[in-house]
Amino acid sequence: MSPQPLCPLCSLPAEVSSIGSPDETLRVSCIRCGKFQAKWRIKRDNLPDGWAPYLSAATRQATDEKKDLGTITCDNWRQIATPHQERTVSAKIAMILEFYAKKCAVPGRGFSIAPAHDYPLFDCVDEAEYNQYLRYLVDRKLLEQNGNALHPTIEGFQEVEPRVRAGGEPDRCFVAMWFDDDLDQAWERGIEPAVRDCGFKPYR
Ligand SMILES: [Zn+2]
Repeated sequence: MSPQPLCPLCSLPAEVSSIGSPDETLRVSCIRCGKFQAKWRIKRDNLPDGWAPYLSAATRQATDEKKDLGTITCDNWRQIATPHQERTVSAKIAMILEFYAKKCAVPGRGFSIAPAHDYPLFDCVDEAEYNQYLRYLVDRKLLEQNGNALHPTIEGFQEVEPRVRAGGEPDRCFVAMWFDDDLDQAWERGIEPAVRDCGFKPYR
């Protein structure tokens, strides 16, 4: 019996099949890295030190978002991984909080993930990094833990909700333009109806 194939990016047991000319391109389905297609040279050991987790983040997030990355090659892997490698700590923390806010939808519902398999969702390099951010969010009382399940607190939800209405009225659209008769037509036929169509009350 042939040994259980391993994911080329994270070395967990995975479903791996080859397509095209023998072993040229691998099609991988990994519980951690998601589903992706890569040239056989794209392997953890062949990538520069520390980069494989960011490629895992790219493939896993693309899988969950149903986005097709195409085939990962020696020419494009860095471009695919870079946005994940460049993600700041603050941005990762925000991603985690937004993730739970989306999954829980309303305060009080919990959602649990498997950190050992799911840390690439937040551009983390390993489970330990994810746990650090989690602890921070719980300490700051933005997330609450209940067994394995987590949910944002009210403060957590407020943190991710878009900051609206810094003064002003919610449904008004203020249009600043020249007071000139020549522009009346543009206002009456163009801007005014267009703003109204978008559901706002236009004010010139
Ligand atoms: Zn993997």
